[in-house]
Amino acid sequence: MAAKVRTISKLHGPITSDFLSEIQHYKLQFLCEQCVFFNTETEECAHGFPNEAHREAYFAPENQPEGKVLIFCREFDMT
Ligand code: SF4
Repeated sequence: MAAKVRTISKLHGPITSDFLSEIQHYKLQFLCEQCVFFNTETEECAHGFPNEAHREAYFAPENQPEGKVLIFCREFDMT
């Protein structure tokens, strides 16, 4: 029986194994490291947003991302 993962809101669901696979399959871009507002020297957001949940490390297998809260940043910009 699969573990039940709690959904916090309609906008903040759990990270699932399917989503982790889809990141790779579809080459999804949504992380701070892929955003123009990310300062690579300070590793901070230019807007001063807290960004821990939008960083590559949050999704790294060694940090066991499954079940953590998935939070998309509304200010993410690749341009
Ligand atoms: S705007 Fe959002 S995605 Fe971009 S660096 Fe800031 S927190 Fe990260």
